[in-house]
Amino acid sequence: MCLEQSNYLNNLGEKYKASQPMYAMRELIEFFTPRELLPMFEAKLEEALIEKEQIIKELREKLIGAADINNLEDKAFYKDLLRSIWQKKWKDINNEVTHWEGLIKMAKGAIENTSAETQVMREKTIRQAKQVPIEALPYFSKLTKTPKGYVTNCPLHQDNHPSFYIYTDTNSFYCFGCNQGGDVIKLVMLIEQLPFQEAVRYLVGINR
Ligand SMILES: [Zn+2]
Repeated sequence: MCLEQSNYLNNLGEKYKASQPMYAMRELIEFFTPRELLPMFEAKLEEALIEKEQIIKELREKLIGAADINNLEDKAFYKDLLRSIWQKKWKDINNEVTHWEGLIKMAKGAIENTSAETQVMREKTIRQAKQVPIEALPYFSKLTKTPKGYVTNCPLHQDNHPSFYIYTDTNSFYCFGCNQGGDVIKLVMLIEQLPFQEAVRYLVGINR
């Protein structure tokens, strides 16, 4: 992997983290290509496996601690307590590992099924769409300059006092009235009620 590519993927990882409160898994799958998603899923699996290790380690320590209790009643209680707490943790972490493994398999399958050329084209189009400045979209009657961009009335809710902030450095938005935020593609999806690919096409159309 060349440096540029690895930087790109790192940036995507950052973007993924930043986008987490904003995007549900379903949107994420629409938003990123499988090739972009794969390293994120792999990072998540890695995290889950580390957590699993940690759980095993902690449980081992707790069990050693329990063995030292002399009072039999306390010992029985402690054992039950451990069982109920750890059974849940164990189930949850194993579910999580399975979940990410499944998604990795899905992404790998999708990558295999998409020709490299189509993939590059798709990524290029998405990048192009993301470059359309939010403030250039026809949804705002009055834009007021702020240090980081603009503030205006929110096109997503009945907004009498401007609460829709546009951040020009990241070309993203956040509305403090209806708590919706994201990038330019997400905004078009919300306003025009379009699925991801259609919103991308709409934006690329504007850009021409
Ligand atoms: Zn709003």
